Amino acid sequence: SIPLSFFAGIGGASRAGILVKGSNFMETLADADTVAFDKTGTLTRGVFEVTAVHPREMDERELLHMAAHVERYSTHPIANSLRLAYPEEADSCSVGRSEELPGEGVFAEVNGHKVWVGNTRLMERLGVRWTECEEPGTILHVAIDGTYEGHIAIADVVKPHSAAAIRELKRAGVKQTVMLTGDRSRVADRVAADLQIDRVYSELLPQNKVEKVEELLRSQGPKERLAFVGDGINDAPVLARADIGIAMGAMGSDAAVEAADVVLMDDDPLQIATAIRLSRKCLRIVR
Ligand code: ADP
Ligand code: MG
Repeated sequence: SIPLSFFAGIGGASRAGILVKGSNFMETLADADTVAFDKTGTLTRGVFEVTAVHPREMDERELLHMAAHVERYSTHPIANSLRLAYPEEADSCSVGRSEELPGEGVFAEVNGHKVWVGNTRLMERLGVRWTECEEPGTILHVAIDGTYEGHIAIADVVKPHSAAAIRELKRAGVKQTVMLTGDRSRVADRVAADLQIDRVYSELLPQNKVEKVEELLRSQGPKERLAFVGDGINDAPVLARADIGIAMGAMGSDAAVEAADVVLMDDDPLQIATAIRLSRKCLRIVR
């Protein structure tokens, strides 16, 4: 039978905005010694701003509006940011086929033209030659009917508590922090260095994130547990694969919340160390 104090522990956690889906997860949390994070929306705000527009031939506004329009067919934080920044694009063009391309970008038919917006991996797959971009952020490359039309640089910022969250995990005795992201290494390395994250893996497709987590799981000792923290639709398989999946609940996707074992109600990464501490306190009482 499950001791009553387990429920008291779960109750205490939920009052702190940490929803634990079962008493067994309190034990797993207490033993977490690797914490792996998704980047966008988890350690960073997931709110992007346009920092530069470099069209090949179109004018800047035209390229920006084309990209913003196509992003209406994606649910990625990049898409949500552009939709909010350029709401006038709504319903101004005729709707054709559209497709979300996980880890790559988005495709849509706009006024009879085929438009792709995404990273260099997408351009490569399409056989479209892109121009290198000297801007520091995430880059949206735009191709229309198979022709390169330029790129848009966008930037996100780390959440105010992310650095403290990593520090607190270290203080709580977590041995290793890891960041997994589909974003390019230039952006990922910078964020990891700023936050003092031990290991960073970038330019990963969603399935590569699952493989990375499996690799990390294989390298663990028998009593070591791996937690993964994410918020996106693409994170659901990784959340399910980790010893313990932690979802950012407020901004996160339903799929992520569904797949997670623990849900953080206010999207604050500092709550992860709090959750680990609470679970250990609860176990000390039980054991
Ligand atoms: P993350 O680890 O940041 O959650 P994703 O796997 O969701 O990464 O996406 C990886 C990369 O794919 C992004 O950094 C971006 O370059 C590209 N990408 C994904 N979705 C979109 C989109 N809707 N529009 C443009 N680019 C996108
Ligand atoms: Mg993500």
